[in-house]
Amino acid sequence: MAKQFDVIVIGAGPGGYIAAIRAAQLGLAVACVDAWTSPAGKPAPGGTCTNVGCIPSKALLQSSEHYEQLNHHFAEHGITAKGVSLDLAKLIGRKDTVVRQNNEGILFLFKKNKVSFFHGTGSLAAKTDFGWSVKVSGKTDEDLEGRHVIVATGSSARALPGVPFDEELILSNDGALRIPAVPKKLGIVGAGVIGLEMGSVWRRLGAEVTILEALPEFLGAVDRDVAKEAQKALTKQGLDIQTGVRIGEVKTSAKGVSVQYTDAAGAEQKLSVNHLIVSIGRVPNTAGLGADVVGLKLDERGFVVVDEDCRSNLANVWAVGDVVRGPMLAHKAEEEGVAVAERIAGQHGHVNFDTIPWVIYTSPEVAWVGKTEQALKAEGRDYKAGSFPFMANGRARALGDTTGFVKILADAKTDEVLGVHIVGPMASELIAEAVTIMEFRGAAEDIARICHAHPTLSEAVKEAALAVDKRTLNL
Ligand code: FAD
Repeated sequence: MAKQFDVIVIGAGPGGYIAAIRAAQLGLAVACVDAWTSPAGKPAPGGTCTNVGCIPSKALLQSSEHYEQLNHHFAEHGITAKGVSLDLAKLIGRKDTVVRQNNEGILFLFKKNKVSFFHGTGSLAAKTDFGWSVKVSGKTDEDLEGRHVIVATGSSARALPGVPFDEELILSNDGALRIPAVPKKLGIVGAGVIGLEMGSVWRRLGAEVTILEALPEFLGAVDRDVAKEAQKALTKQGLDIQTGVRIGEVKTSAKGVSVQYTDAAGAEQKLSVNHLIVSIGRVPNTAGLGADVVGLKLDERGFVVVDEDCRSNLANVWAVGDVVRGPMLAHKAEEEGVAVAERIAGQHGHVNFDTIPWVIYTSPEVAWVGKTEQALKAEGRDYKAGSFPFMANGRARALGDTTGFVKILADAKTDEVLGVHIVGPMASELIAEAVTIMEFRGAAEDIARICHAHPTLSEAVKEAALAVDKRTLNL
């Protein structure tokens, strides 16, 4: 006899585990199935984000930033250290500990919220009188039945055609987070968020990093002023970022990897590196899910087709996160997970896709929400812009971190904030104020009239709002 639940969630990444907890909070009987296994052979819920994504990348960014500060920036504070050394195994071990703590935290939350966790691969097996039958294949196989199923199976790194990941020479995000020795030369294909973050980590630790990007513009989706400032800062740090390239043959040998490519000027080039990280996008995890068995509709790229409420073509089968359309971000997956759990419980869950923030955790950080200036121009929308540089912010000067600025775009007539773009220190934290204002459909004048603590980086947000009305106080 199958174990019966109100909701079965397949996948315990940020979309799935959050959906499971919210559904349980709402009084539903919930099962969550996840296949991820730690290197020690234990269940490791948390998905890409916890195991090989957001969390480990931020742990490495933090460690490498400490190293960079010690090597290059402490002296200006009058602090010098002799005999500085790097224990890479310890640095990576710390990252693994952070990951494990997060895995264990999720298992604790499941217990606390009475979510039944099953370690194994879940697949949709059949429609039943009760709802849907889901088979779990793991150490022990299980038959489950759910009135509702939430598919939250996430995504995996996309490989270059004909160049599979071996995680030794050709690295996905997984191998990029555990290179055993700092490479002398590291190549990266793709200057998106993951490529730039991983490139920053290994450059700070001592690698010579070359990033090859096919698109003609650096960070094409980002506000142009912000992208230019970020490119300038990252290049100054030593990242060699080449845009407009066409990747040719990639060969591996005992010596490493060689990449033939055509540069933006059309010249044939060759890059020889110890390892090559390929970060050219991600593909949805729908193989083995049983989509064909039950008739779950996928699009031509393998994403589960859903409406804006995350409903699939099958009654009471939902899908959230990276496996469906929209930005591949952990917080977008979480918001969808909460909204679906609430809809199942008869509430009115809602996700505002217009106010999802984006962050790149380089130094300087890049963060934005809403429309870019180029998008507003393309729409023909009448807007006002105001910006304020961190150079003129007292806290940034005290921190010794004055690169970048805050830029606010507001409707010319109503003053409603349409987009906020930040490049600079702690942009990842500062963007939250912009998201709040936009969620409440606030105006630049609202930010300008809110009292911001002094001295803080957030004063740059207030000053940028004042700049929209051409009345900055500190510039
Ligand atoms: P996932 O996190 O991919 O989780 C899906 C889970 O389902 C996995 O555990 C998988 O094993 C499991 N699964 C798959 N199929 C089955 C099955 N049939 N049965 C059982 N289990 C199954 N996003 C941010 O917002 N901020 C960041 O800073 C950030 N940094 C990133 C850094 C890197 C290097 C990478 C690769 C990604 C990063 N992301 C970041 C993106 C973020 O990780 C994803 O958007 C997020 O993890 C998507 O969540 P999800 O729940 O949809 O899927």
